Amino acid sequence: MTAAYDDRDGWIWMDGELVAWREAKVHILTHAMHYASSVFEGERCYNGKIFKSREHSLRLIESGRLLDMPIPYTADQIDAAKEEVLRANGFENAYLRVVAWRGSGPDMGVSAARNPVRMAVCAWEWGSYYGDAKWQGAKLDVAKWKRPSPETIPTAAKAAGLYMICTMSKHAAEAKGCSDALFMDWEGYVAEATGANIFFVKDGEIHTPLADRFLNGITRQTIIQMLRDKGYTVHERRILPEELEGFSECWLTGTAAEVTPVGQIGDWHFQVGRITRQVAEDYEALVRA
Ligand code: PMP
Repeated sequence: MTAAYDDRDGWIWMDGELVAWREAKVHILTHAMHYASSVFEGERCYNGKIFKSREHSLRLIESGRLLDMPIPYTADQIDAAKEEVLRANGFENAYLRVVAWRGSGPDMGVSAARNPVRMAVCAWEWGSYYGDAKWQGAKLDVAKWKRPSPETIPTAAKAAGLYMICTMSKHAAEAKGCSDALFMDWEGYVAEATGANIFFVKDGEIHTPLADRFLNGITRQTIIQMLRDKGYTVHERRILPEELEGFSECWLTGTAAEVTPVGQIGDWHFQVGRITRQVAEDYEALVRA
């Protein structure tokens, strides 16, 4: 069994300084614990270079702004904190988790403007998100929950509260032998997986849901650009679940998932085809370039 995440050797950056891994703690009366006032980033470092570090730092700052939780660090300072953590732990290839949250302070209720916004940066060595099954094509369940409307919650933020239904949906998926779940949105259109965006292929063209109502992943944006540069037509549009029948290939994109081929969603089947393989290889080359 692997050690619990709070029981490891190493260093974690917390509020401006490096602390020993096991000492990186917060008090139980932390606002975020009770009200989900927390935003985060997941990033990967390849051969000593963090992929799109600046984009992730800017997204964290934007997520904080969207939650009325201004992050007290600049993108330069956040980038530097990540580098410091990688150096301190001696990692060249790692996953990074940056988290900012509303801490403990004079307020312990819904309103918390007087409580400090805190930040931590952690890193650990981490392999393929879906394990060895990656090249067989992941099997996805269809989540019973729907991605919420942007009028109900700031859907563009990478915020902890948005993951409540992701955890529940992923647990349900795993109980059925699937590795992830696909969400529809509140209007019934195809949205995203629990921690990754989705792409489809039909007649050599690429189709992906318009990311105006869920996280517009940095990997998603990278892949769209990569495909367009190669001359592919990429349609960002509303996709109905009935259309899944007509798609030949499917893959997920995300910092953790990278490019993960999908073999099955519910009763719909896809091949791990030529375009999927090419995209996965090109992405692997790009992140290490
Ligand atoms: N959607 C969700 C819900 C996610 O958690 C992630 C992972 N951050 C993504 C999409 C993909 O985002 P990115 O490519 O920026 O990692």
